[in-house]
Amino acid sequence: MRLEEKLYLLRWKHDRQSHIAITDPATCRDRCGKTWGRPCTTFCPARVYEWDPAEGRIVVYYENCVECTTCLVGCPYRVIDWRLPRGGFGIQYRYG
Ligand code: SF4
Ligand code: SF4
Repeated sequence: MRLEEKLYLLRWKHDRQSHIAITDPATCRDRCGKTWGRPCTTFCPARVYEWDPAEGRIVVYYENCVECTTCLVGCPYRVIDWRLPRGGFGIQYRYG
């Protein structure tokens, strides 16, 4: 089964409040692109992070997060403040 098909099985209860924040957007804009190629845009399996060249910032689609915790270790500058969603919100895993 492909990753996209597995992701289709998941269900979310979305919070209006984001559980993810970029603590230093200037680092994303000025340093990470040249040095690391903004890896959050590729390591996140749910494509939560997207570089917006017009705005010069990372856009965070926190609603899509599958809570895999990769971004806690994947950001080379540790500027992703990721927390578990508030109680009752977030991903609901379904198997089969
Ligand atoms: S990997 Fe970290 S520093 Fe680089 S663009 Fe993403 S959030 Fe910013
Ligand atoms: S926890 Fe996983 S799915 Fe959520 S934003 Fe981080 S890398 Fe993406």
